[in-house]
Amino acid sequence: MLVKDVSIMKGGRLLRDQNIAIDGPRISGVGPGIKDESGDGEVIDGRRMLAIPGLVNSHTHLAMTLFRGYADDMELLPWLEEKIWPLEAKLTAEDVRWGTKLGCLEMIRGGITCYNDMYYFMDETARATKEMGLRAFLAEVVFDMRPDQIEGVEPFIRRWKGDGLIVPAVGPHAVYTCSEETLHRSREMAEEHDLLLHIHLSETRSEVESFAKSCGKSPVEYLDSIGFLSDRVVAAHCTWLSEKDVSIIADRGVTVAHCSISNHKLASGIAPLDRLARAGANICLGTDGASSNNSLNLFQEMKTTAIAQKCAHSRPDLFGAGEIWRMATENGYRAFRLDLGLSAGALADLALIDLRKPWFAPLTEENIVSHLVYSGHGGVETTIVDGDILMWDGVIPGEEEILDRAQEQFQDLLTR
Ligand SMILES: [Zn+2]
Repeated sequence: MLVKDVSIMKGGRLLRDQNIAIDGPRISGVGPGIKDESGDGEVIDGRRMLAIPGLVNSHTHLAMTLFRGYADDMELLPWLEEKIWPLEAKLTAEDVRWGTKLGCLEMIRGGITCYNDMYYFMDETARATKEMGLRAFLAEVVFDMRPDQIEGVEPFIRRWKGDGLIVPAVGPHAVYTCSEETLHRSREMAEEHDLLLHIHLSETRSEVESFAKSCGKSPVEYLDSIGFLSDRVVAAHCTWLSEKDVSIIADRGVTVAHCSISNHKLASGIAPLDRLARAGANICLGTDGASSNNSLNLFQEMKTTAIAQKCAHSRPDLFGAGEIWRMATENGYRAFRLDLGLSAGALADLALIDLRKPWFAPLTEENIVSHLVYSGHGGVETTIVDGDILMWDGVIPGEEEILDRAQEQFQDLLTR
């Protein structure tokens, strides 16, 4: 496949009239005169397009897309206890299947090619994701109140290890829902299989304060004291951190999955990204579930992250567009050990954005990253993962059926 005469970004500048050759699941070349050696004869006209490497959604619960708009305008704990957990108690594999597919549709439309998820019925999520063609890191969520969940982790890992698109991970929910023994077992499984650990960490002030009261330590200090933290940990939220917490996260190489919109909507707080960045922590962006966002759009996350940090510190110079763009791309590639980017040899996960949209005008060689981050719109027309076209010119095969089935499934869940 050849994407012909397309624009790309290099060093934050727009570079026009480039070709991108794709051979199987990988990019075989990028440059002005590059030819397609794959022999499939497929050519995409990229003349009005910008090619970007795939965006990484570093924290979500995709099946919860089915709960979009079900419970808004509440704080985290009552939101969970009164609305989400009772609904989840009735959840079936079929709900997860159509919630996941609905979430995949939205992410494909937003240029997200890889996501990191923890939830229930992960085999169903894995199958649905593979059918949609996306790349995913999936963890069966582990809670002490559901002791059966941890027993399912090892079999899940064995079923999916080595898959081309699905990478199993281990997902202890949080320090307030998992005992020390559960956290140790989770870490040991992740180490044994060389997988990532995915956990919620220090999301709300009340969580951190009540944990400190009972344990005498912050959640971060506690996890460090039991040897849980390392560069295989992706920690979602990290909203309430002390100076000591920040340096532990940076020293241990923990990745922070920052969920700006979810944190704002639940009024959980503004994460100390400035201190984390200064300490050298790897910061990525996540949407969290559509039940608390309510969308799965990293262009919105980029804009919100930038403007919230600037406003919180009265510093418009903090977190420029280039730094924010890296959070949605390169920082994610590093965290998830993905060989991604628009270069020869990298995995062919990319999106084509229509530059002939109002929010990209006026366009210069220098302002492209600014438009991508601060317009908040995106404008993705074509999405390619592993060399396969998932959306072409705005059309995703099977979309109508998924929308109908997700609607039916949600109504069925409510009356169950
Ligand atoms: Zn979450």
